Amino acid sequence: KRTVRGCSSSNSNKHVLMIPYPSQGHLNPMLQFSKRLSTKGVKVTMVTTIFISKTMHLKSSSLPSTLQFDFISDGYDQGGFAQANNISTYLSHMETIGSNNLKELIKKYNFSNDPIDCVIYDPLIYWVLDVAKEFGLLGAAFFTQMSGVNYIYYYVHHGLLKLPISSMTISIQGLPLLDIKDTPSFVNDPGFYPAYYELVMNQFSNIHKADVILVNSFYKLEDKVVDSMSKLCPILTIGPTVPSFYLDKEIPNDKDNDLNLFQLDSSAINWLNTKPEGSVIYVSFGSMVCFSIEQMKEIALGLIGSGLNFLWVVPNMEGKNISKELVEEISLSGKGLVVNWIPQLEVLSNKAIGCFVTHCGWNSTLEALCLGVPMVAIPQWTDQPMNAKFVEDVWKVGIRVLVYENGIVTREEIESCIREVMESEHGREMRINAKKWRELAIEAVSLGGSSDNNINEFVNSLNRS
Ligand code: UDP
Repeated sequence: KRTVRGCSSSNSNKHVLMIPYPSQGHLNPMLQFSKRLSTKGVKVTMVTTIFISKTMHLKSSSLPSTLQFDFISDGYDQGGFAQANNISTYLSHMETIGSNNLKELIKKYNFSNDPIDCVIYDPLIYWVLDVAKEFGLLGAAFFTQMSGVNYIYYYVHHGLLKLPISSMTISIQGLPLLDIKDTPSFVNDPGFYPAYYELVMNQFSNIHKADVILVNSFYKLEDKVVDSMSKLCPILTIGPTVPSFYLDKEIPNDKDNDLNLFQLDSSAINWLNTKPEGSVIYVSFGSMVCFSIEQMKEIALGLIGSGLNFLWVVPNMEGKNISKELVEEISLSGKGLVVNWIPQLEVLSNKAIGCFVTHCGWNSTLEALCLGVPMVAIPQWTDQPMNAKFVEDVWKVGIRVLVYENGIVTREEIESCIREVMESEHGREMRINAKKWRELAIEAVSLGGSSDNNINEFVNSLNRS
């Protein structure tokens, strides 16, 4: 039988619903994975909330014909999370209202010529799996965080690691020795964010019913974790979901990140194009991190103090504790540009970029690894401290800031970490390692690579259903 990149051609009549958790860092990998599945002949309908549909800027012209969007209400059509009083209220309404609306959506497709075969869902909305099973559909969990983080949550959920942690370090087979500061914030301080703790733990409440568990990572990046975790809970690494354009220029059809919840400022690319190779520090803390006024000032002064060029993304600037005076000071330095939101992959792949100062969100970390850019990690919460631990000690592609004063990373520490990455022998080694990880990421998603094979295995399992 003719195959589509390793898959049976009869996949063309398989229809998958892809259901992301409604935030930028969860939408991006699901959209990119949807595109990859559609190159394998699977039809994908990506389902987001109505609020997200109003906020997102999507270049629909770049979507393949086998990928479409549909929308359901989570009960907060006007403001999403912000419309609910708190995260617990949001999540419980989303579960009751969202699951009813999802059932109606599945019925709509099942009464059409386009019935659903499988639901791929973000385990943060674990109840989607129960809906899929009610309809007798295949259910695939897609974890958009690293395997190591999922593994530690799995350990806690199954009582294999008791909280609160009583020792200074944690030793789990397959993971490096973890200091408390390296563990996800919901593990080292579950009482601080009880609703989020419940959110990450619930991911495993019904996972035994999932037909397959997919992770946005690649085998060689986390081989020890994948092997150890798979003994308890088999996982398939299918990442990185970074668009193939940035990995393999032979496949040019998915260049754009194309789903942005913030207004893009494309002037940054022109600005970058005027800068020498490897001379610019790219600074971004993703879509959710919000620093104090004091911390924003220290970051700005650390960047200015380095004397290097920098491009700093501050989404929705007005609400983000950056004063007009500080923006003016940056502008007067003649070195920095502060923008609202940029096409991050295009920026990271620009030759002018020499270093990425990041919060170590999983997407940003994977994207930097795939584009060979070394990092200065300023992790804040959730999975970020553990991602930063791997960046520094396992993959050796960056360093984590250490010196805090009254809970704030000092300007001196920021400047010194940037200098280490940009100017030292250690930084040169990080750059070499980063290039090696880029090669391995390309290998994983190329024809016959570990992630490509796992995607084919998943797609072929749709056929057998
Ligand atoms: N991103 C972007 N433009 C920006 C900043 C971020 O396109 O100016 C994208 C970035 O490429 C990544 C996502 O937003 O895919 C952020 O996800 P991440 O997991 O790094 O952080 P989160 O926002 O979830 O904290």
